[in-house]
Amino acid sequence: MKNLIVTFLSMVAILFLVRTVITGKAEMDSFRKREAMVAEATECLESGDWSCAEKAVRELLCDAPHDTNLQMHLAIILYEQERYEECRSYIASLNFKNQDLELIDKKAASLIREMAELGIERSMHFRVEFEGNLSKRDVMEALAVLEVAYDSLCRLFDFHPENKMHLVLYESPQYQGVGPRPEWVGAVYDGKLRIPVNVMEYQEVYRPMFFHELTHAFVRAMTRRPVPLWINEGIAQIIDASRTGAPRPEGGVPSLESLAAPFVNENNTSRALSLYWYSQRMVEQLLRRNGNFVHFREFIQGLGKRDPDEVLQEFYGVTASQLLDEVK
Ligand SMILES: [Zn+2]
Repeated sequence: MKNLIVTFLSMVAILFLVRTVITGKAEMDSFRKREAMVAEATECLESGDWSCAEKAVRELLCDAPHDTNLQMHLAIILYEQERYEECRSYIASLNFKNQDLELIDKKAASLIREMAELGIERSMHFRVEFEGNLSKRDVMEALAVLEVAYDSLCRLFDFHPENKMHLVLYESPQYQGVGPRPEWVGAVYDGKLRIPVNVMEYQEVYRPMFFHELTHAFVRAMTRRPVPLWINEGIAQIIDASRTGAPRPEGGVPSLESLAAPFVNENNTSRALSLYWYSQRMVEQLLRRNGNFVHFREFIQGLGKRDPDEVLQEFYGVTASQLLDEVK
């Protein structure tokens, strides 16, 4: 589905460009307006902000009601918002069929069936998908814990994510997202929260795990831009509290570059643990300067496209390398 979204900008842009050539200069103003709408729709789609994407795509459809590319994206947007019945009847109402639409329709139908079989109501803040044969008890318990964690993070950061979070509950490690991952990864957030419900047996494991991954999902909801990894992993560990006070790992101090890059690329367990340890310490140092989590959220949102050090200076009066010096 990601690939479809990526093609969105190019296809719609070409369409409008062709039209403008045909209708001439008089149309320039409305061309610019539509160009801005396409840019808006693309940004919303790419960042998974479905409510803003729906608004933008529906506006574009007013101008081009028979555009199959736009229709296809509206179907995706309905699906992504868990509006499965609406999505299926929209697809049925369209005058064209293709493989992608058939796939979306099939997935929506199977989600409606699975939710009914498990007897699960729509979750308040999560859009849930299932992989494997899950027990209803595990699913309900996982959702209950996640909702509680969600509420506490809303209060902590004084922040309410606009969109539902995409949650994949799965049974076996083989369903763990895209590609092979190192053994030390239990649950992941890769745009979707992927939680193995097998862990519901072990409360001491799943609570920190849920809080950790949910914090990543909140950070993602706070900003559309990438956040340096040490900041993201640091705050997630402070909130999950599972490694607080852990002893300094052996070996050298990691570089700032390795602390800013994705840690899941690190296949060496002790080096990975060291990255996590330093991240947490560095963010702890930030919170020593200002322990207000709302301030921290404003800092995350302030990162945007700017140089992280510039924003660190502005919010905490420090740079990343100073923080690393303080903890090493
Ligand atoms: Zn993490």
